[in-house]
Amino acid sequence: MSNSFDVIVIGAGIFGLATAAELAARRRRVAVIDRFGSGHPATSSTGRSRGIRIAYDHPFYVELALDAIHRWRALEKAGGRQILHLTGQVDFGLDTKLAAIASAVREAGGVIDELDAAGLRRKLPHLLTAPGDIGLFHAQAGTVLSDTGMAALKAKVLGDGVKLFEPERVIAIEPGNLTQVVTEKRRLEAGTVVVAAGPWTGALLATLDIHMPLAPSIAQVTFIAAQELVDRPGIGEWGGEGEGLGGVYGHPVPGIGYKLAFSTGQEGWVPDVDQWQPDYEEQARLFAWLDRRMPDFPRQVQLVQRHPWTMTPDGDFIVDRVGPVVLACGCSGHAFKFGPALGPLVADVVDGKPAHPLLRRDRPSLVGKKAAAGDAISR
Ligand SMILES: Cc1cc2nc3c(=O)[nH]c(=O)nc-3n(C[C@H](O)[C@H](O)[C@H](O)COP(=O)(O)OP(=O)(O)OC[C@H]3O[C@@H](n4cnc5c(N)ncnc54)[C@H](O)[C@@H]3O)c2cc1C
Repeated sequence: MSNSFDVIVIGAGIFGLATAAELAARRRRVAVIDRFGSGHPATSSTGRSRGIRIAYDHPFYVELALDAIHRWRALEKAGGRQILHLTGQVDFGLDTKLAAIASAVREAGGVIDELDAAGLRRKLPHLLTAPGDIGLFHAQAGTVLSDTGMAALKAKVLGDGVKLFEPERVIAIEPGNLTQVVTEKRRLEAGTVVVAAGPWTGALLATLDIHMPLAPSIAQVTFIAAQELVDRPGIGEWGGEGEGLGGVYGHPVPGIGYKLAFSTGQEGWVPDVDQWQPDYEEQARLFAWLDRRMPDFPRQVQLVQRHPWTMTPDGDFIVDRVGPVVLACGCSGHAFKFGPALGPLVADVVDGKPAHPLLRRDRPSLVGKKAAAGDAISR
């Protein structure tokens, strides 16, 4: 087998698989290398479900989410398995954030409705409201069955002739006319190397003297066993723990019930831990939130999991080029939903197009800034 490719992608998480799928569709010879194996519990793109919404405060993400829904649907059709479970989403919390979301969704051609306190209660009967409370509802939201989505994307990549090496760790990248990628087992080469290594990206890039403000963080999710909730909308609370800080988000999970989590991760991610123990203090905080906001919500916990994500200082991803190396990283806790739609973003940069201004590595909101693992998802 040849060890030479047009593009080598490091990382088979959602960013890496989506990139490989798009490059293969563009007839490139592609190899993907993953240290743990795609979707492993140590990685970001693991687990049963992720929330999907078009409710974003920037039209770029609204359009990307609309595109993602079409692409997820195409993958469902190709593989014959359900990936999306769209029941809508209710957003509530900071008025300024809600106004920005409504405006961006409409600017991008999406549909979103304003709710008063009575409307909020109709959509979310568990939520305690006060007179004057407002919220938003949109239908193009709910749940991505992420493990099924990852499997569908992986099947597409393999079917399109991409070579996948996993589990296999990249230990060095040696840029040159043809960049060498050295793993524990072999040496491969390619004209372009995409680094989509999730929380491990910062360390890999540092070996090339590329320094990005990335902060890996560890985040917890709680699955509540409550089958009666599987047709309920998702929720997104903005600023629930104070101005500028995160709140609670959640979505239904077919076969289980409902998943709830804080949109704030914690310091303390360790690169070599591959199974994280639940943090019971955080679970107690989640139940205290339920006592305050949704006291009648069921509490039978089926599963608590912790996984890493990677914050940037401004909450936007980084998709840009440095010589032969393309960066696809800084998921900031909200990339999974975009799934296959991430592929064209990265493949365009591989093909020499300029990075999108929001995703450039030298955008003003990154230069000289530090990311914090304890920041909340801000987009
Ligand atoms: C708890 C939690 C809840 C979330 N909820 C949502 C949500 O509701 N909605 C949403 O849209 N997003 C959500 N996200 C975010 C989403 O899951 C991430 O943004 C996304 O999975 C990031 O994918 P990635 O490909 O960048 O990273 P990863 O999935 O981590 O992929 C990186 C890959 O690189 C590999 N790798 C690392 N180092 C090397 C090396 N040296 N050599 C070879 N391979 C290597 C790893 O094995 C890994 O598979 C959530 C994330 C978490 C953790």
